[in-house]
Amino acid sequence: LTFSACNLPLKLIQNIESAGYELPTPVQMQAIPAALAGKSLLVSADTGSGKTVSYLIPIIARSARSYHKHFEEPKKPLAIVLTPTRELCMQVEEAAKLLGNGLPFKTALVIGGDAMAGQLYRIRQGVELIVGTPGRLVDLLIKHEIDLDDVSVIVIDEIDCMLQRGFRDQVLQIFTALSQPQVLMYSATVPPEVERMARSMSKDLSVMYV
Ligand code: AMP
Repeated sequence: LTFSACNLPLKLIQNIESAGYELPTPVQMQAIPAALAGKSLLVSADTGSGKTVSYLIPIIARSARSYHKHFEEPKKPLAIVLTPTRELCMQVEEAAKLLGNGLPFKTALVIGGDAMAGQLYRIRQGVELIVGTPGRLVDLLIKHEIDLDDVSVIVIDEIDCMLQRGFRDQVLQIFTALSQPQVLMYSATVPPEVERMARSMSKDLSVMYV
């Protein structure tokens, strides 16, 4: 499998080339076609495996193709990436900007320790992707400051780590605000608790050990 065999938008292929990615990593070979086909996934993948790119490519491809129903209004977010730390969120957003460059693909960070007003302002201008930590996103949901009606895919990165840090209820709270999204979950280890949580969020889950 090559990136150009995945039927991706041309500009996205060019961005992948500019980033210097010649061949997909094993995680990408498995996860990208399945995610593009709309499947929900639990992928056992470590940092360094290329997992970030494996979920960003399907999200960006889908955003670039998505039909914008109300052109006079700013776009509502189409995708969410949740990670356990602010630092990881910032890295993911950087990668997303690089790969989404020149495409109709804007991103916003929703993380603690940063003024909420600026994050909200950016979201209201219209973004396709929100990258955030569960706590701050739940804050925005409770305050009815964010509209997740158009979100069709949610990524839960480092879900094993997330459960250890007690993010479980917040993740489920965010999940309840969505209507049957595709769920892409990544975990270094897959203990029974992680698999149970993953299955509870998706009726038709593919588990991938890479
Ligand atoms: P991650 O597993 O998401 O933390 O990514 C690890 C590193 O691999 C990042 O620095 C990426 O830029 C890099 N990377 C991702 N996909 C590829 C690829 N197909 N070829 C070469 N490097 C890659």
